[in-house]
Amino acid sequence: MRVLIVGGGIGGLSAALCAHHFGHHVTVFEKAAEIKEIGAGLQLPPNAMKVFEALGIDDVISQHACQPEAIEARMGKSGRPIFTIPLARQAVEMWGSPYWHIHRADYIQALTDVFNRRVPQSLELGANVVTYKQDNDAITLTLKDGREFSGDVLIGADGIKSQIREIMLGVDKPVFTGSVAWRMVVPVDMLGDYVPNPTTCLWMGKKRHGITYRLRGGKVANFVGVVERDDWQQDGWRERGSRDEALRDFEGWHPILTNLIQSAKPDTLYRWALFDRAPLPRWSDGRAVLLGDAAHPMLPFLAQGAAMAVEDAWALIREISHAARPVEHSLKAYQNLRYERASQVQAKSRANMKTFHQSTWLGQIKTYGPMWLAGRVMPSIVHKGMDWLYGYDVTQLD
Ligand SMILES: Cc1cc2nc3c(=O)[nH]c(=O)nc-3n(C[C@H](O)[C@H](O)[C@H](O)COP(=O)(O)OP(=O)(O)OC[C@H]3O[C@@H](n4cnc5c(N)ncnc54)[C@H](O)[C@@H]3O)c2cc1C
Repeated sequence: MRVLIVGGGIGGLSAALCAHHFGHHVTVFEKAAEIKEIGAGLQLPPNAMKVFEALGIDDVISQHACQPEAIEARMGKSGRPIFTIPLARQAVEMWGSPYWHIHRADYIQALTDVFNRRVPQSLELGANVVTYKQDNDAITLTLKDGREFSGDVLIGADGIKSQIREIMLGVDKPVFTGSVAWRMVVPVDMLGDYVPNPTTCLWMGKKRHGITYRLRGGKVANFVGVVERDDWQQDGWRERGSRDEALRDFEGWHPILTNLIQSAKPDTLYRWALFDRAPLPRWSDGRAVLLGDAAHPMLPFLAQGAAMAVEDAWALIREISHAARPVEHSLKAYQNLRYERASQVQAKSRANMKTFHQSTWLGQIKTYGPMWLAGRVMPSIVHKGMDWLYGYDVTQLD
């Protein structure tokens, strides 16, 4: 089958590698003139690693990554521990694959390098897809420069502001959540005495939370800080913010966090207003289909957006590989396979925002008390609670 993929992000490149793995002819169209990512980390959980293991590229993906020793939760201001639950060995034992933290740039570069090696000359850069048309036999995309390319199926992996989704379903109506996310990475040797632990650490508090973890073999610290505020609403990957503003947002919080902000180079401070989107009514239109953020954009409070795109990639390509079936049927089968899980992750991400931002003492005691108890008495309860997410193996579907 001739597979056209719009978007060379994590979802698009994963789908391209899956398409090659299942024996299809594939071309990726990426509108950026070069593959370049913002300075930010990502959590790469076991459910996504299973796809890379099936593709035989898990070592390449994880070579610059970092394994968290534990999941921790702390109070944002005092740093008082709520729980610490071991993770490194347990992830493999409980969920079958490791849990990694990775720099977005390393992740995209690794996927690009493998794709260019396995399928040379098939990544079109500077290729901005503006529309598509289809008939019974084929689907054709048009680039901004007027060039046209035809195939059997077109995958819209073009992210949260998807053009393919807009053609398919009309203009998107996102709802501002009232929260803004800060993202920054800082080399550990610039942090002096206040270095985040080599864990996934969640810092919780009134109307804000932070996540710290390490990247690049532990040499780089990553900070994501989410704060409830409604005075700024730019929905984009590459918006910069000022250090003073970030410090104001986390004023009085633990020095590990304020030191991270203080030490970040001004041109590495990104902020993103968080918008919520309801599940879409459908993901396909004839021979065109959506994947990743284009299909189910989600809030980042479960750290699963990219992981869902990777799971989608395997499931979609597996479905279109049923040769005896018309493409349209396969695309619907893919949606049936993925819709419930993606919607569940979307909903759980949304719910986590409330959990992380308890504003009253009572709310904090009611929410963090049971977490503290579970962490002390039976950490396996916390592990078990994540089985549905991290233990899932899309490559083992019947
Ligand atoms: C603060 C924050 C923290 C996060 N943390 C995590 C985490 O820890 N773990 C995790 O799994 N996820 C995380 N996510 C989510 C994750 O980053 C996204 O879900 C993921 O990048 C989606 O991948 P994608 O391939 O669908 O889209 P994208 O990564 O957005 O890629 C889309 C690509 O399509 C290209 N494109 C767009 N339009 C066109 C066009 N018309 N023609 C051609 N190309 C086009 C773009 O240039 C881009 O390269 C986080 C998100 C945020 C905001």
